Order: sequence, then C-alpha cells, then structure tokens
Amino acid sequence: MIISGKELSAKMKADMAERLKSFPEKYGRVPHLVVILIGDDPASHSYVKGKAQASEQVGIKNTTIRREAQFTENELLSLISDLNNDDSVDGILVQLPLPKHINESKVIASISKDKDVDGFHPLNVAALWQKEDCIVPCTPKGIIRMLDEAGVEIAGKRAVVLGRSQIVGLPIAKLLLDRNATVTICHSRTVNLAEVTAGAEILVVAIGRPRFVTADMVSDGAVVIDVGVNRDESTGKLCGDVDFDNIAAKASVISPVPGGVGPMTITCLMENTIECFLSRINKYENII
Ligand code: NAP
Repeated sequence: MIISGKELSAKMKADMAERLKSFPEKYGRVPHLVVILIGDDPASHSYVKGKAQASEQVGIKNTTIRREAQFTENELLSLISDLNNDDSVDGILVQLPLPKHINESKVIASISKDKDVDGFHPLNVAALWQKEDCIVPCTPKGIIRMLDEAGVEIAGKRAVVLGRSQIVGLPIAKLLLDRNATVTICHSRTVNLAEVTAGAEILVVAIGRPRFVTADMVSDGAVVIDVGVNRDESTGKLCGDVDFDNIAAKASVISPVPGGVGPMTITCLMENTIECFLSRINKYENII
C-alpha cells in the first residue's frame, strides 16, 4: 500500500476550508500566518510559495515578508518583535535555513511561543518532551497522521527512526514513543545500521541521502515512511532517502517522494496556524 500524503492533504485542506467558512462570523476574522523569507535560496522560495498556496486553499490569510540576504540579525529580531506584538498575527514562521550571519536558535527563541507554528521554540520542544500541551512540529505531526490514515497500529511495534535532527528525527521518535511504540533512534555513528533497520516494523527515514536505504535493510511487511527530499543528480528529479522501487515490493505500507510527507508538512502547518489562532482567541476571551 502506498500512502499518498498528497491525497490525505487534499482531504484535510478541504475539511479545514469548510471549517474556516464560519470563522469571520464567529470570530470576526480568519487566522493569519506570516512567513519570513531571508535571502534567495531557490528551495526556500519554493517552500514559501507552497505555504502561500496552501493558505489560500484553506482560507488562511498569508503574508510573506521577503528580505535581502544582507538583512541583519537585529533587523530580523526587531521584525519578529513587531509581529509578536501584532494582535492580527496568529502564526510566525521564519523559513530555514537562514543566512550564516544570523543565529537560528536566537531567532527561533525570539518568536512568541503562542505564535510558533513550526513548534521549534524551546518552550514548545520542552512541552512536547514533558507531554504537555504544545504546538507539535509539522513534519512529525504529518507522519503520525499518515500512519493513522493507513490504519497502522503503532502501539507495541518496534519503530526505528533513522536521523536525529531537532525538526524530524527527535520529535517523531517522541511521538512514536507517546503512541507506545518501542523506539530506536539511529544516526551516522550507529554500528550495524542495516541490522537495526531490518528489525523495524515501522521505519522512518530522515537523513537527506538519496536512496540510502536499500531493500536489504528493510524487513518484509515493514511500514516505511520516507521523509527525505533529495535531487537525483542523474535525472534532476526529486527522490527520497529510500530506494522506493525495490522496497515497495516488500513493505506493507510505504510513502512516496514526492507526494508523501512533503504535502503533509504544509497541511499540518495550516492546522497549527488554526490551533494558534483558536488558542489565542480563547486566552483573549478568558481575559475579558
Ligand atoms: P539533518 O538535520 O541534516 O539530519 C540528518 C540526520 O541524518 C542526522 O541525525 C545524521 O546523523 C543522520 N545521517 C546522515 N547521514 C547518515 C548515514 N549515512 N547513516 C545514518 N544516519 C545518517 O536532516 P533533517 O533536517 O532531519 O532532514 C532529513 C531529510 O528530510 C532531508 O532530505 C530533508 O530535506 C528532509 N525533510 C523533509 C521534510 C518534508 O516535509 N518532507 C521536512 C524536513 C526535512 P548525525 O546526527 O550523526 O549527523
């Protein structure tokens, strides 16, 4: 079975669009997402465009603020501070990576945790690991949705996460653990990697190496989620971190690239923006 993130995303966006129709009457406005893009990285430009398109489909107001690569860290912090204080803004996303002269951690920490639609703010990360209410990062959130949609039972399963980044590997490992999987996290220093991945009933791969995971590294009937987004140098086409063609024959469930985790990430960003909007409205209503 191939889990189409594209189809699930379309369904989720249609549901959100329907729900948002009542927002102007109920709340006086729709949620507002502000995306900040610094510099001219082509991949970042295309991601930001995708976020604007999804916002339009769902009915979320989207403002994209573009600045030259020379924009300074102080200027960015000051822009974020203005957006934090702007009541008409519900979500703030700074497109990563940032130019080298800007400290990413400092910038992420400067975003109000209540408007941190990416779920990268240290307080949101801490809340996730303490099992408290938090904004769940979009990619891991999307992966859990895909597993649920495919009817994959997570509890009790041996899950292996390949990659330990702050934005994918670590949070998806935590979400799988919260769903009672037995989780192993692998990385570039893991010894006998193929042996570990072959023991996985659920394998999530997020390393950024084209078709790194080959069929011999996957057991028959495994569920394989491919997070990687790579450019195949010979064809120029997008490909994932797993050798899809050879693994699809033995996996019980597999996600494609493109059309898998990527669209789900953007769709979960839309969900997070709505969640931020609603929780800010609730807080406001509790104050007055
Ligand atoms: P990252 O920060 O570069 O981390 C890569 C991880 O992979 C690291 O933990 C690294 O181990 C591990 N790794 C690298 N080479 C390895 C190897 N040969 N064997 C075992 N582990 C290895 O990457 P990321 O941000 O998580 O992104 C991973 C991929 O997912 C990229 O292709 C990215 O474009 C994609 N991505 C897609 C989406 C989406 O929405 N579809 C979202 C985010 C990311 P060490 O820690 O030991 O260095």
